[in-house]
Amino acid sequence: MALNTLFALLAVASSGGATIAVEDVAPHDKELSSAKYEGRLTLSRGGTLAGDYIAAQLKAMGVKPGGDDGTYFHHFPVTFGFKPGADNSLQLTTTDGRTAEAKIDRDFRPLVNSASGTTVKGPLVFMGYGLNDEAYDDYRGADLTGKVAVVLRGSPAGYRAVSNAEKAAIARAAGASGLLVVGKARPNDPELPQYTRGQGIGQLEGFVAAAVTSAWLKQATGFDADAARTAAHPEPRDLNATVSLRTQLEPNTGMGRNVIGYLPGNDPVLKNELIIVGAHYDHLGYGEVGSTSGSSLIHYGADDNASGTAGVLGIAKYFATKGGNRRTIVFQLYQGEELGLLGSQAWAKAFPEKLQRTSAMINLDMIGRLRDGRLEVYGTSTSPAWQEILKKVPMPGIKPQYAPQTRADSDHYSFAARNVPVLFFFTGMHPQYHNEGDVFELINTQGLAQVASIAANVVQEIDARPTKLPFDPQSIVGNRAGDRQGSPRDSARRVRIGFIPDMTGQTEGVVLMGASPGSPAERAGFKAGDVILEFAGKKLSSLEDLQEAMMAVKPGDKVKVRFRRDGKEQEVEIQTEQRG
Ligand SMILES: [Zn+2]
Repeated sequence: MALNTLFALLAVASSGGATIAVEDVAPHDKELSSAKYEGRLTLSRGGTLAGDYIAAQLKAMGVKPGGDDGTYFHHFPVTFGFKPGADNSLQLTTTDGRTAEAKIDRDFRPLVNSASGTTVKGPLVFMGYGLNDEAYDDYRGADLTGKVAVVLRGSPAGYRAVSNAEKAAIARAAGASGLLVVGKARPNDPELPQYTRGQGIGQLEGFVAAAVTSAWLKQATGFDADAARTAAHPEPRDLNATVSLRTQLEPNTGMGRNVIGYLPGNDPVLKNELIIVGAHYDHLGYGEVGSTSGSSLIHYGADDNASGTAGVLGIAKYFATKGGNRRTIVFQLYQGEELGLLGSQAWAKAFPEKLQRTSAMINLDMIGRLRDGRLEVYGTSTSPAWQEILKKVPMPGIKPQYAPQTRADSDHYSFAARNVPVLFFFTGMHPQYHNEGDVFELINTQGLAQVASIAANVVQEIDARPTKLPFDPQSIVGNRAGDRQGSPRDSARRVRIGFIPDMTGQTEGVVLMGASPGSPAERAGFKAGDVILEFAGKKLSSLEDLQEAMMAVKPGDKVKVRFRRDGKEQEVEIQTEQRG
């Protein structure tokens, strides 16, 4: 007993700092970025496995379940991309009477803009790559009325990339009633394209389009598409078969899962206060969304954001082992971040009372690429206490880059926009951002452990304070730095309005989540749900438009703001302020 106490005292006295070992973070990153988890897309098999893995880790550490009904999972509805309905079929009959039936997702898959619930029948005709450019024309004026075109996926060597959607439009213009694309666009790609978030579900009215595998087509018709592809200029030909093709797609709807655990505080009063440590664990799957390379290979996301997830697990283990936290520490691993901060928004919207009791939210997103000790820390303007706290945190070998703005492109934004002080840790951009090259081999595991240690120390410093962190109503909440690469516009920003835009599901104008307390926007009566349609004479269709419009305005200017509330359009004049 005495010895333990002595060690505890020594541990506190010697460094004053938490240290998280590489062994407590790196294995989690390696596991979650392995092929088993298939890029951890929300609503996907790999995404679900990743959630299970994280929950099992928290349980093994003795972290208590903080999700729905005594589980580690907080569920929220997600609609993302498309899925096949019950009514998809592809049957083929050759002129000599043989028949074949294709199986969905194994042999064929509807293209996203194929007409839904429509059947087309017609003779199959091979049309090469299905292009009709002047320099490369497979159609040469051919009339395909009543026929179904078969075209090779991808483009001839050295030719521009042509999408399936464009090929469908070309075939349709030539009179065809349907299209089958066959084979791979690139050698390493899967043969059947994904059900992407691509727009225009069912857009091709009356026209049915699908992808088929070359193996199925060969077995059904004897036509070898892979062999045809080896020709310098594959020639169109009749395939001596008739198909019946029907497609039906519907929105892919399901429940996303945040993984949540907590360590209760031991102080009778302070335990009611929460310190949230969060990271998103979802990524881009097979590039179904947000890919910078357009590849259909697994997007492993070792940095984005297996690294932050590993960091949170390392911090959870540290506090679970050490004990003694006065406040309740909540560990949140979000899904749906890559689809627009869905998981963190859902949690923050569901638990306003918990947000009231939250001292701070620490977000780790992409912390696996520490280079030359450069660590970006965003959100320092959200509380006047951050400066003092960060000064106390040991950062050997680290060159912190402090930024007052929070940015709006990761989960801390869901909290900052609701007046919770936040810090966002980020080790910077790299060429593998959002593509298949973001692999574990490129992770700086030592750096990952260092950043996790810094975040753990921040948590400790928050917990050591006598009172809750104050939120600074003048703080710069939002994406002032543009995208993740930062923006030169940043330094030019000087006008304060106080709109808090909702970053999810923008359709027309800019939807507000609220107005900053004490801001011109609040004084003008703006509130959550208002849609800003026009600012200073500029029509808005995105947040970027609003930022642009604000650039043209000087502090003290009076500007007209047109907006819609409860279906009614209104206009108000608002006087801008100097940013504090
Ligand atoms: Zn990302």
